[in-house]
Amino acid sequence: MFDMMEATRLEKLHLAYDPATGLRAVIAIHSTRLGPALGGCRYLPYPNDEAALRDAARLAQGMSYKAALAGLRQGGGKAVILRAPHVDNRGALFEAFGRFIESLGGAYVTAVDSGTSSADMDCIAQHTEHVTSTTRGGDPSPHTALGVFAGIRASAQARLGSDDLEDLRIAVQGLGHVGFALCEHLHAAGAELLVSDLDPGKVQLAVEQFGAQPIANEALLTTPCDILAPCGLGGVLSSPVVAQLRCAVVAGAANNQLAHPDVADELEARGILYAPDYVINSGGLIYVALQHQGQELPAITAHLAQIGNRLTEVFAHAQADHRSPARVADMLAERILYGHGG
Ligand code: NAD
Repeated sequence: MFDMMEATRLEKLHLAYDPATGLRAVIAIHSTRLGPALGGCRYLPYPNDEAALRDAARLAQGMSYKAALAGLRQGGGKAVILRAPHVDNRGALFEAFGRFIESLGGAYVTAVDSGTSSADMDCIAQHTEHVTSTTRGGDPSPHTALGVFAGIRASAQARLGSDDLEDLRIAVQGLGHVGFALCEHLHAAGAELLVSDLDPGKVQLAVEQFGAQPIANEALLTTPCDILAPCGLGGVLSSPVVAQLRCAVVAGAANNQLAHPDVADELEARGILYAPDYVINSGGLIYVALQHQGQELPAITAHLAQIGNRLTEVFAHAQADHRSPARVADMLAERILYGHGG
């Protein structure tokens, strides 16, 4: 366990077990150097305890990098609640988790993640104020979409010489909370949309509302386009997929798009500009962090707009150093977190 903490440079690992509700939870605090550790709470089944610990640690590290590059006074953390096949009282489970968070005195602030909802956050909020994305807070997805839109414009400027998206062919994989809202912005900017989703109803809606061209799920990633925006699941950019891409830019919302870190170099070798996922999709984090800090919407929107500038900075470094934007983003985040990097 300590080897894993050393490898991920994790500050603290907290565990809680509550016999009354069956709560088994992990809170991984990667860094509080820039501020309290903020990151979502997953509620998923895990094959064993070690898998849960590893997931929490890895994701907490990612949150530190994301918050650092988003210019937030916020550290990185992540929580995992191990999901049992049956739970008697979900509300009581999340209330117990709220008491666990409260016992850490504000070092960790939680949020919605895979398997949790705003209603769960409301249960947590009964016992601690160190919680975001409650039903009162609102859905961060539209803010994520706005940030991705700003990032796509910055990417177009860097690779295609203009941030004007009119008549550009943009392929969007996944029309969920973020992908659909992104399509609204892209359509308003005059882009030609190519879309796919596992749910044919969402595709039909995009065809009707945006005049989008439906593409088969298995063909979307390799369809000829100017910009590919993965907005579904992570891990879509594997080596075989990268070898078949027919786009100039990859810039989308999905987390952990690279199946492994070397894929960033393969994209670079093929001359495809990659907008690092945790930089371009940081709008949701910016929204929940600043809302939790009590900032008003205009200030939050102004901060969101900086995502484009941040990407422009990453691209410029990458070009000057002949490195992939993904590696440059990590280097810049480490410089902010540890005072060195590269
Ligand atoms: P969501 O669950 O609302 O939507 C995902 C959509 O992708 C679904 O409609 C699903 O059917 C579709 N999909 C999944 N696999 C697909 C495939 N192979 N081909 C086509 N469609 C596919 O999720 P979301 O909130 O819109 O998030 C989308 C991505 O962005 C996720 O990777 C998420 O982690 C990431 N992200 C979301 C936010 C946010 O604020 N919601 C913030 C940061 C990152």
